[in-house]
Parts: sequence; structure tokens; C-alpha cells
Amino acid sequence: MAAITGQQFLDRLRQNPPTLYIDGQRVEDPTTHPATRNMAHSLAGLYDLQNQPDLREKLTYEENGQRYPMSLMVPRSQEDLARIGEAHRIRADYSLGFLGRAPDYMNANVMAAGAGAEYFNQCSASHPGSEKRDFAANMRRYAEFVREHDLCLTHALTNPQVNRAKQASEMPDPYIALGVVEEREEGIVVRGARMMATLPIADEILVFPSTVLKENADKSRYAMGFALPTNAPGLSFQCREPFDIGRGPEDHPLGSRFDEQDAFVIFDDVLVPWERVFLLYDVELANKAYAATDAVLHMAYQVVNLKIAKTEAFLGTAQSIVNAIGSGQFQHVQSKVAEIIIMLEIMKALEVAAVAGATVNEYGVMTPARGPLDAARNYYPAMYARLPELLQLLGASGIIMMPSQADREGPLGPQIAKYLQAGNASAEDRLKLFRLAWDMSMSSFGGRQSLYEKFFFGDPVRMHTALYEVYDKQPAVERIGQFLKRSEKPQVAQSQSEGVTA
Ligand SMILES: Cc1cc2nc3c(=O)[nH]c(=O)nc-3n(C[C@H](O)[C@H](O)[C@H](O)COP(=O)(O)OP(=O)(O)OC[C@H]3O[C@@H](n4cnc5c(N)ncnc54)[C@H](O)[C@@H]3O)c2cc1C
Repeated sequence: MAAITGQQFLDRLRQNPPTLYIDGQRVEDPTTHPATRNMAHSLAGLYDLQNQPDLREKLTYEENGQRYPMSLMVPRSQEDLARIGEAHRIRADYSLGFLGRAPDYMNANVMAAGAGAEYFNQCSASHPGSEKRDFAANMRRYAEFVREHDLCLTHALTNPQVNRAKQASEMPDPYIALGVVEEREEGIVVRGARMMATLPIADEILVFPSTVLKENADKSRYAMGFALPTNAPGLSFQCREPFDIGRGPEDHPLGSRFDEQDAFVIFDDVLVPWERVFLLYDVELANKAYAATDAVLHMAYQVVNLKIAKTEAFLGTAQSIVNAIGSGQFQHVQSKVAEIIIMLEIMKALEVAAVAGATVNEYGVMTPARGPLDAARNYYPAMYARLPELLQLLGASGIIMMPSQADREGPLGPQIAKYLQAGNASAEDRLKLFRLAWDMSMSSFGGRQSLYEKFFFGDPVRMHTALYEVYDKQPAVERIGQFLKRSEKPQVAQSQSEGVTA
């Protein structure tokens, strides 16, 4: 099947709907349900993009006469990596960078895990009762399955937020956190919940433990990695309140199109067939899986490209506001736009550095450099809050005084057209622009984006700790040591020591 079309994606979703619940009701068909249909169609648009004649070459690659999404190509050279980066960027532009979970993100994960599948073989070797399970083959086959069908994936990594002072096994019920209940001939049975899966209107869910699993070996029932269809028996997704409330793209330019949804995931004794199990009972192996296969770096590479697109969108919107209300001559306004430019250029530089410093990993995959990507994924969450704030500071009352499309067509339409025009645009165009700024920075959709940026790649506090732990600080320490050991005194020039009289 390879690179599918939007219609194929929608047909598949209609035929195999994930078990979603919204506002207390089951979503029978996500392609028509008011809370999910626009997002489903936006995803379909993204699939169509790769079949567009002018973009096909850039968004797909050819192998054995078939075309596949570029985000699933295993990069073997820096040129390959650059091609993948360009595809990430083009696809990110489609949503102005506001679609955090375009399939590209999980594709990067699956590509790296598939290429590094050998890693998972350590698991089958080290566990009594599961020696015969070929976890590496499972991972490899699954990556191929995702590629062949151009699947859309979500993932769920963290356990419910019941009590962070306790370990999973110490909760009121040992199966609040997702754990293995039993092994059967056909597979493992899992019970419990995972806190968050963004984009539950997906074909499949990938389940790995969070990288901070702290269980001892004897409590290893929480260490697992597997994949399932999102409509697997016993699996359900409780969605949060939708942000697409039917107002259309004129009024809610982002929320009406890119509400990717976030869901709480419940596993009610779900059977995971053996061939879908990639990792089992091995806490250490589970904790290291993302780093050891370099999946985390390929995902971060997609993310840095996405964030460049998003920051560019903030820049374009900010400058359009400045142009619209004629505020560009004020120095502090220029300075605020300059702040966005600086952030954008830093992200672009980190992306370039990640490719320039890329090396081939032990699985033969050209892998972007860790340093710049770690910097990007720690820097952006810390800085992001400033972007919506800058839009608010630049747009001021304009970002709240925004009559709707219905208002513009109502009895006060002529007055709205007169009083709410821009210095360089009609009221209609001005209001569209300010509504975009509002959706980026203030609406429920914009608020969720701010939270998403803080946490989607993990808890920023623990990410800093992880960076502290992995970064090689020793050369810098040695340099300071050498400097302090240097005994020579500064050579003071004769003329200076004699002093200069004015
Ligand atoms: C909008 C959104 C979308 C998301 N999408 C996904 C998704 O698709 N898939 C997915 O798997 N996850 C997703 N996440 C979850 C994300 O991975 C987590 O939010 C992140 O890992 C932090 O975990 P937590 O939310 O459980 O916070 P908690 O771990 O509960 O932390 C809450 C607070 O306690 C502090 N804290 C807790 N434990 C420690 C500790 N050991 N050391 C120091 N401080 C601690 C934290 O710093 C924080 O201040 C999403 C999150 C958001 C907000």
C-alpha cells in the first residue's frame, strides 16, 4: 500500500474506529463526529500532501518500486537526514507547527526502533520463559508493517498521576499503573492505565514505559513495550473536552482544524499478541530503549523542525499585527519582534548543527548529533511561554476585540467594517489575523499548546537532570583545572606600569 492518500486514511479510520469516549459518549465514527471530524480531515490533508505531484519527491522516498513517507526512511547519510528534515519542515508548515502529533513524530520513533531492533533481542535472551520470543524480529516486522500501511500512531508512556511519591506497585491497586497480569499462549494480558495519548484518532498505539521507571527487577511487570490497534478489545480512550466546538476556521483558525485531542488510556485486561510484544520484564532495557536505539534523537530531530515552523508562524503573525496597526516605529515593538527572530535563529542553528554533527550509530543509521538536539528540546520548552506573551503584548486589545464571522454578517456589519479595519487591511482580514493570534496565544487551544510545549517531551526538571547526567562536562572541568595551574604572572608592559597621565 505504501504512501496512502487522505481518503484511504479516512476509510481506514471509519472501518476501524478507535474506542474513543467524549463527553460520556462513545464516538462511533471519528470521521463524522463533530469533535473529531475536522481533525480527521486535517490528517487526511496531510496524507494527501505526500501525493501532491509537486511535493511527492520531497515527502516520499522510493524503495523496490514503491513510495513511502520520507519520515520512515532509514537515513544512511547526512544528505538523507537533510531530506528527512526538509520533509518534516514542509509537513510542519501545513499546521503552522501546531500539530504536535502529525504521524511524522511516531514514524521517527518506529523507524529508529525498527533499524535498531537488535537491541530488543537482549530481552529475549535474559528472561526465563521468554527465551524463545524473538523480540527483535517482532520490532523489525512491526516497523515494516507501519511502513507498508503508512499507519498513523499515537503513544502512551506515563502512568496515572495518582501519587508521585510512590512506585507503581505501591499504589492502592497494583494495576492502576499499566502492568502485565498474565502470560498466555497467544500473548500477554495487560491491565491498568496510561495518563496521556495525544492524537487518539490513530490506527495504532505504541506503549513503552516512561524513561523513569524505578521498579526493582522483582516488580518488573511494569516494564514492557508493545503495539496494538486502537480498537483492540478492552482498550479505551477517554478524551478531554474538545476545543473544536464547531465555530469553523474563520473564528477558530487553529482549534477548528488541529485539535489533535489528548486521551487517558484504559487497558481492561487487553491481550497483546506475542508478535506485538517488543520488550518484557526488563526494567533497565525498558528505561534505555529510546536512548539505545537513538529513537529519542530521531524524534527530537522531527521536533526541532516542527518548532522552527511554529516559531516562524509566531514571527509572521507578530509582524503582520505590527503592520496591521502601524506600531513598527516603536523601539520596544521592534525589540519584541527581534526576540522571536533570535529564538527562531537559535532553533535553526541547532537543527543545522544536529545534521552537521550527525554520525552513524551501531545499527548503521545516520543519527543527528545529540548535543544540539538536547539543547533544543530543553531550550524550547523553557522559552515557548514568551511567544504567546509577545503576541499579547503586541496585539493588546486587538486580540480580544474580535467580532465573529456571524457578527460581521449581522446588523452591525458595516460599523464593524469601518471601525475595525486595519491600517493596511479590511476589517475582515484584520479580524482573521487577530483571531489567529488569539488561537495561538489565548484560546483553550492556545492554552493547551503552552502546557504541551512544557511537558510533551517529558518533565522539564527531569530532562535537565538527564542532560546534566549524560553531558560530558569533564573537558570543561579539565580546562579550568589547567588554567588554574598556570603559574605565569601577567606581563605588565613597562609603559603601563609607569602609569599614564592625562
Ligand atoms: C498536552 C500534553 C500532551 C501529552 N501527550 C503525551 C502523549 O501523547 N504520550 C505520552 O506518553 N505522554 C504525553 N504527555 C505526557 C508527558 O509525557 C508528561 O506530562 C511528562 O512526562 C510529565 O509527566 P506528568 O505529566 O505525569 O507529570 P508528573 O510526573 O506528575 O509531575 C508533576 C509535577 O511533579 C514534579 N515531579 C514529579 N515527579 C518528580 C520527580 N521524580 N522528580 C522531580 N520532580 C518530580 C514535576 O516536576 C512536576 O512539577 C503529554 C502531556 C501534555 C501536557
